[in-house]
Amino acid sequence: MYVGGTVISSVEFHGNMSLVIFMSKCPLACRYCHNVELLEDNSEKSFDEIKKEIDSSRDFLDAIVISGGEPLLQNDAIIEIFKYVKEVGLKTKLDTSGIYPDKIRELLDLNLVDYVSLDVKTTFSDYRKITGADVGDDVKKSMDLINDAGVHLEIRTTYVPTLHTEKDIIDLVGEIKAEVYTIQQFRNKNVLDPALEKVEVPNPHDLAKLARKVKPYFDGIVKVKSGEFGEQVI
Ligand code: SF4
Repeated sequence: MYVGGTVISSVEFHGNMSLVIFMSKCPLACRYCHNVELLEDNSEKSFDEIKKEIDSSRDFLDAIVISGGEPLLQNDAIIEIFKYVKEVGLKTKLDTSGIYPDKIRELLDLNLVDYVSLDVKTTFSDYRKITGADVGDDVKKSMDLINDAGVHLEIRTTYVPTLHTEKDIIDLVGEIKAEVYTIQQFRNKNVLDPALEKVEVPNPHDLAKLARKVKPYFDGIVKVKSGEFGEQVI
């Protein structure tokens, strides 16, 4: 399986220590993507190597997070890993762009996911502007499947001042359903579209102001995530 790296984290699965596995490759080309190296990384790890990493940290781990890239490109590998994670009694989280609803359905049917973090990049009809592909309907389908399955869902949007207006974010919030909605701070270093390196990183206070504006339109917890303050509940 293509795995760009792993890291132990206390912030990726709230209140839980987790081993985060970053799967490489992604078919999208989000202009603000800062995982550029991961998109092309050809490093591989076997399931046994991943299993050994899980086993060696198991005493202090609560969860395994599979992130990317777009991990669902390697769904067989996710199934193999999450089946093992469930066997050893840890929790599972998947980070995804949601563009493969059928693969999400497969994971949900197997009862292998406890928590999904879904990137909703803009309103569903406007995806091409951000990702280069009209995949909004697939992302919506994934969101609906996760909600129908009763799995904990967090939706995240990376807010880029030159790509999103405040109205875009308010409209987006009107289209989504989840337990948590997080507005993430855009980072302008090492991004896919070099033009975005000149765009100023939004100030966390402005992000909090935006989050307070969208809060009345969202039935759930609203958060802001920034480099300066980490996660803040609004
Ligand atoms: S931001 Fe995520 S979905 Fe977009 S290109 Fe990067 S890895 Fe893929």
